[in-house]
Amino acid sequence: MIDDRIKEKVQAIEPWIIEHRRELHKIPERSTQEFKTRDYIKEALENLGIEVQEGYYNTGLVGIITGDKPGGTLGLRFDMDALEMEEKVDVPFKSKHDGLMHACGHDGHMSMGLGTAKVLSQMKDEIHGTVKLVFQPAEEDATTGGGAQYMIKDGVLKDEPKIEAMVGMHIWPKLKIGEVGSRVGPMMAASDPFNVEVIGEGVHASLPYLGIDPIVTASQIIVNLQSVISRNVDPFEQGVVSIGMIHGGTRYNTIPDIVKFHGTVRTFNEETRLRIHDRMKAVIEKGAEAMGAKANFNYTFGYPPTMNEEHMVAVARKATEEILGEGKFVEVERPAPGGEDFAFFSKEVPSVFLWLGYAEEGKDVYAPHSPYYEFNEKILAVGTKVLCKTALNWGKLKIS
Ligand SMILES: [Zn+2]
Ligand SMILES: [Zn+2]
Repeated sequence: MIDDRIKEKVQAIEPWIIEHRRELHKIPERSTQEFKTRDYIKEALENLGIEVQEGYYNTGLVGIITGDKPGGTLGLRFDMDALEMEEKVDVPFKSKHDGLMHACGHDGHMSMGLGTAKVLSQMKDEIHGTVKLVFQPAEEDATTGGGAQYMIKDGVLKDEPKIEAMVGMHIWPKLKIGEVGSRVGPMMAASDPFNVEVIGEGVHASLPYLGIDPIVTASQIIVNLQSVISRNVDPFEQGVVSIGMIHGGTRYNTIPDIVKFHGTVRTFNEETRLRIHDRMKAVIEKGAEAMGAKANFNYTFGYPPTMNEEHMVAVARKATEEILGEGKFVEVERPAPGGEDFAFFSKEVPSVFLWLGYAEEGKDVYAPHSPYYEFNEKILAVGTKVLCKTALNWGKLKIS
């Protein structure tokens, strides 16, 4: 039985997976600077006799496992970067790099990548087609747009054999140990920053009719922006427009030349996202024009929403239930408002993004991005089993 083979193999290498997680935990690196991490992964894959492709956004790399049976090509994605923070957890494998910490679990993701590589490379007789293990830099670097889209630009999906579908997995605090969850449709939000400059004409506060008041203009625009959600977005869709900063003026009795404000937009589908952007542009630019002022609207399309495709979710659900047991796959009710650059893969090929639970009964766990972040390493074997089974099932379904 395939399931028994996977379970036995994963169980046998569990200490090996944990050991890799700990070694990687000691050497957290900044987004796009994952050099030691890349060398570590490369060596581990080559020691397993796995072919490695490089040249994807500097530190990105791909391990290729070719099955004995014909079929398609599936990509499994593992992110590599850490966060700039001082680790507050006291463990023997604590970060050796000052000011850096694997506080989002990417060390765990990579170790599951290696575990999956080891198990699948011993089960080529069961693999239909090819499995590509995609190790991706700079997931946390939203300022440059994240590593996924640059790996795609560098050909990670197009290089032979072409990746036809993708699976991603993130260690997640909302599910329990032993559970894996997902949902069809949006899984993670699009997250877009914006800033606005309202340019008027400064004048003494006693003579407003001789100038153009950017404070009154900006105030009207900000109030009107709230109508974009209430009047332009389908009530069954979600969206958030929030302004977190506003600056203007230096004196109580002087109307300034300029007012600036900054904010963020969160959405869960591309159509709503574009609609909000277009309506904001009109409200801002026309609102300024009506007051005789001028507005510069700078909107950055950050990470798009992560979208799960129906068939891919079904494949992962079945695999999870077969390998972990009935009831271990959780239908996630609502997407999370955080951003995730796996979204760029999900835009290109049918994809599924899975959450791997680490919540424990009667215990408070820290969420990702906390300096106290920690997870029970038992989950690494759970995630590895699900990834192996999902890969084997996908290849088989593709053929039949
Ligand atoms: Zn993160
Ligand atoms: Zn993360």
